Amino acid sequence: MCRHLAYLGAPVPLAELLLSPGNGLLTQSWAPRRQRYGTVNADGFGVGWYASGDPVPARYRRSIPIWADRSFADVARVTSSAAVLAAVRSATWGMSLEESAAAPYACGPWLFSHNGRVEGWPDAVAALAASIPASRLLALEAQADSALLWALVQERLDAGDPAADALARVVRDVAAVAGGRLNFLLTDGTRIAATAAGDTLFWREGSGNVVVASEPFDDGPGWHEVPDNCVLTATASTVDVRPIYNLTKEQVAP
Ligand code: GLN
Repeated sequence: MCRHLAYLGAPVPLAELLLSPGNGLLTQSWAPRRQRYGTVNADGFGVGWYASGDPVPARYRRSIPIWADRSFADVARVTSSAAVLAAVRSATWGMSLEESAAAPYACGPWLFSHNGRVEGWPDAVAALAASIPASRLLALEAQADSALLWALVQERLDAGDPAADALARVVRDVAAVAGGRLNFLLTDGTRIAATAAGDTLFWREGSGNVVVASEPFDDGPGWHEVPDNCVLTATASTVDVRPIYNLTKEQVAP
């Protein structure tokens, strides 16, 4: 399934983060090392990043493989950001192949990506979908499981859940009615929340920066694997990992 990555820290050229590393997202699009499901990630890609002073991120998404986009290589060389979320996609069978289904999904300050699939789509999650207001359902960005999951996460964020709890709640709710793999990445440019729920997830802290990614992009030291069924919260200088099912009392639904 897809590979994704988020970064917070000092401004870095997008190319340095995504294209240059020996096993960066560019390489992971055709030769991922830790991918358990699917082989290549050639069904599009997307990058979202924050420009200084603007809380709303920019997105660059295509339906073609990242290796086939020479224009992105140019843009990525000269564009730097202190907060980035990017993904390369291996589309789940039956989902839209359009650019609109390439992560990151976005709304306001948020960027979201899903690595995985919902089993039993769409019937298994029909009742959960019915809990979403029609206006939000009608505005889904794409005909894809990830777009519905993003709508469910937005419902939780709108209800006031902290980012990590919003993700954990949606993993719990979806896992209760459907099988599947639910690795999420979410950022607002100041913090990252991520789940490991069925697929690989790693993080690495540097001096004043943090990377959270489906797999290490180099063989350097400092990469930590997040255990399955955990939710991670990170800022540029802190990382916290806890079990998805350990929501604090006030965060648990009545
Ligand atoms: N199911 C999602 C999609 O089709 C994510 C796919 C993936 O993780 N490979 O876009």
